[in-house]
Amino acid sequence: MFCTRCGVALSQEDSFCAKCGQSTVAPVAAPIYRSPRPLTRLMDQKKIAGVCAGFARYFDCDITLMRVMWLIIAFGTGIGFVGYVVAWIAMPKEYASDARDVNLRTA
Ligand SMILES: [Zn+2]
Repeated sequence: MFCTRCGVALSQEDSFCAKCGQSTVAPVAAPIYRSPRPLTRLMDQKKIAGVCAGFARYFDCDITLMRVMWLIIAFGTGIGFVGYVVAWIAMPKEYASDARDVNLRTA
């Protein structure tokens, strides 16, 4: 085993390089899912408040499918209505003119 920073030979038991102090234990990076698309209400594609349009873009799925799913949840459980209002309040508005990267927008 060799130090990844300075290349000095290390024993298997060493957790730090004696020469430069580099850790020999690989940092465990937690797999964090981050969407490259912000979760915002799309004011240009909205039917009511742009919530479904925003979620459709966030999860990269069809906007109509998202609306249908949302309605099924809303009428099936009642949670959808509350969730929609919560999302309405919580999600920031986004206008097409705000978009920094046009490629992130759904057509
Ligand atoms: Zn080293």
